[in-house]
Amino acid sequence: MAGKDYYEILGVDKNASEEELKKAYRKLAKKYHPDANPDNKKEAEAKFKEVNEAYEVLSNPEKRKMYDQFGTADPNQGFGGAGGPFGGRNGYYSYSSGGFDGFGDFGDLGDIFSSFFGGGFGGKSSRNTNGPKQGADLRASLDITFEESYLGTEKQINITRNETCTICHGSGAKPGTKKQTCSMCHGTGQVKQTQTTIFGQVQTVRPCSNCNGTGEIIPEPCTECKGKGTVRKQVKVTVKIPAGIDENQTIGLRGEGEPGTKGGAKGDLYITIHVRRHNIFKRQGQDVLCEIPITFTQATLGAEIEIPMVDGSKETYKIPDGTQPGTKFTLRNKGFKNINNGSSGNYVFTVLVQVPKRLTKEQRDLMVELAKTMNEQPPVKKRGLFG
Ligand SMILES: [Zn+2]
Ligand SMILES: [Zn+2]
Repeated sequence: MAGKDYYEILGVDKNASEEELKKAYRKLAKKYHPDANPDNKKEAEAKFKEVNEAYEVLSNPEKRKMYDQFGTADPNQGFGGAGGPFGGRNGYYSYSSGGFDGFGDFGDLGDIFSSFFGGGFGGKSSRNTNGPKQGADLRASLDITFEESYLGTEKQINITRNETCTICHGSGAKPGTKKQTCSMCHGTGQVKQTQTTIFGQVQTVRPCSNCNGTGEIIPEPCTECKGKGTVRKQVKVTVKIPAGIDENQTIGLRGEGEPGTKGGAKGDLYITIHVRRHNIFKRQGQDVLCEIPITFTQATLGAEIEIPMVDGSKETYKIPDGTQPGTKFTLRNKGFKNINNGSSGNYVFTVLVQVPKRLTKEQRDLMVELAKTMNEQPPVKKRGLFG
């Protein structure tokens, strides 16, 4: 999945609006639908998959944000790679060649599918809404310190989500009892109705009212979850935050969202990171910026000064004589890590030359002597110009 340009696949530019994405997707999905390309089905299928994959990522604001950031929307590939800490399903994309029931939630795009299936493609007459469904994605945000964003860290956050009921193991039926197939819809969850109108006979399909479209009846519901199969729980989730993460970047945790239904996969958890401001350091791109005060004698004569680093260590830096106020110095590769490629930015400090506000009598006399040698007028006497 990494490396593919989803924008290119959909033929839109990077700033494409939701509406433009949808339009491009509709056009391409129709063009490449395998059943619409009987002559080169294989090729069309590959294209179709690609288009669906691109749209599934770009149409989801979180996934699109991750994709724009990391070049992938797969939490397994963002950092740590496929063997990373997040293990689990492979890819978001859920196409199965046996049918199209496995598609995720395409919202109001359902009409594309109904237009395909309505035409009798593949012998299916309607989209089965009763099959496995992926759980919903969850969103959270997390505050970290400047140092944590620099060094990377591991945090635990509390998430309230639905968890599979441990009493009935998600079935919703009281232990020892069983769910039954709904007798009204025979397990399909849908009831067909034929109505006679002035246009002739019209068949409509609506969710079964007996089972609320689930296709199943629970005669004795589990008392723990009241038959829902899930209970709301607060859980602790461990989040690995890579060194170099920036304000407003998002971390995806696969399978930490809501549980799916009917064997569907769990949703994902998206955590947006907020980095607290620091008293002395600032971030600019991958660089760490800092202002270091030095005395005017250090600026004049040159000096070895100690520079505080973000990780708490100190670096010694030799500033040359004659350093002007506002001069910038760079410590290479001491900035933020790039979370994509591991390269590092720089640490750039600007010197602030401090002019002393108070001098001792001795210091003042020395300064007057210095001023004379520089052909300057001696400074005004403290008692005043006419004193
Ligand atoms: Zn239960
Ligand atoms: Zn039913």
